[in-house]
Amino acid sequence: MQAILEAIQAGANGDDLANIPLPESYRAAFVRKADVGMFEGLDSPDKDPRKSLHIGEVATPEIAPDEVVLAVMASSINFNTVWTSIFEPLPTFGFLSRLGKESVWGTRHDQPFHVVGSDASGVVIRTGSAVRNWKVGDKVVVHCNYVDDQDPSSHDDSMLGANQRIWGFESNYGGLADLTIVKANQLMPKPSHLSWEESAVNGLCASTSYRMLVGRHAARMKQGDNVLIWGATGGIGAYAVQLVLNGGGVPIGVVSSERRAKLLQSMGCEHVIDRAAEGYRFWSDEHTQDESEWRRLGKRIRSLSGDDPDIVFEHPGRSTMGASVFVAKRGGTIVTCAATSGYMIEYDNRHLWMKLKRIVSSHFANYQEAWDMNRLIDRGAIQPVLSACFPLTEVGEAANQVHHNQHEGKLAVLCLAPSRDLGIDDPEKRARIGEDRIRRFEVL
Ligand code: NAP
Repeated sequence: MQAILEAIQAGANGDDLANIPLPESYRAAFVRKADVGMFEGLDSPDKDPRKSLHIGEVATPEIAPDEVVLAVMASSINFNTVWTSIFEPLPTFGFLSRLGKESVWGTRHDQPFHVVGSDASGVVIRTGSAVRNWKVGDKVVVHCNYVDDQDPSSHDDSMLGANQRIWGFESNYGGLADLTIVKANQLMPKPSHLSWEESAVNGLCASTSYRMLVGRHAARMKQGDNVLIWGATGGIGAYAVQLVLNGGGVPIGVVSSERRAKLLQSMGCEHVIDRAAEGYRFWSDEHTQDESEWRRLGKRIRSLSGDDPDIVFEHPGRSTMGASVFVAKRGGTIVTCAATSGYMIEYDNRHLWMKLKRIVSSHFANYQEAWDMNRLIDRGAIQPVLSACFPLTEVGEAANQVHHNQHEGKLAVLCLAPSRDLGIDDPEKRARIGEDRIRRFEVL
């Protein structure tokens, strides 16, 4: 790996990189099948990713014809790595075993370990025989949509393919490692003005928010829309705020601390609700929701933006969905991609049908949506929301912080990159966009 890293740092060309032998094994962050029962009887918050995420060597897999080997310079923590590391709602080994039964190449994924991670920036160091558009030496970022191109539905929208998977969550050999294998159709050009770690944090979260709000499959925000955004300084929320502002909408951001409220205001989000300071209690007990609290939130939103939200950007799930359905405007849209606080949802259906609201589901993004979002980042129209950076050896600590909502934006992880701020190829473009904008989440 050292030879590969040195060649990348020296700016070696594709031929030179292709001549460096691949190591037989590489360093990776993984959970073990043998550990699946380790947290039995504990409540979710007590399940500690630092205990289940290990760093060690795994054998380098062979690549399929449509895949590449990537030297991973940096990656990031996504919530799916938290789910994998606490074995909730299901251990991910079931996904790997299903993939293992699908094809000869699929069997590689069914292992007693699961290398996690659904983001990466890095350099292509091998290409499979069927790869056409990418070559060894290309600097890339990876999106996590692992698509079955033999399913007809995938050719309408690749998220509809029956075998669509999230790389590094429903497949093995994810991005939190020094090497990874990905399909060629997961690759996108690395934004030239960003460092490895700044490039690595965007793929999963930014593309998810793009599909939820901008792409043609979900809420389809239009200019002037009021958009209520839960977790507005979190991973997907912080990209949602930027997309709404860029698209001529009006974000109303919900956060849970003064620090986050200030961060949100500094992004240009004028309407901020601090849910902790305002003390909303949508559930009076485990089984009962309090409609008067929904009303209080609705009034607060109107007092800020003068109207009800055309769109509610929903992901906390059980704790907020009742309120989200209630506060959405007549005819408005609740777009949901997750359920962090619980997936058995309750809302008052009368508020949905009598006011002609609709709940729209969304999940990651297809290649075009991910590509379009990456282009916005490359143009400097959307900024990375990196708040802190960890070495690969501390991946458990980073995942634990995300598990406990202690972070803002995204946490990056350095894999092969030996230090921060490397990989910036276009400093002039960076200067034009502005260091303060690019580093906004680090400064506060
Ligand atoms: P994150 O970085 O942890 O941010 C989530 C934000 O939600 C937090 O900053 C927090 O903000 C807010 N929040 C957490 N619990 C809440 C609650 N009970 N009520 C209200 N707000 C709450 O996570 P993320 O990366 O944005 O991901 C959010 C969820 O989306 C996760 O469940 C993740 O798995 C899912 N996701 C799904 C997809 C997909 O493709 N389907 C893609 C990405 C993420 P405050 O505490 O400041 O309010």
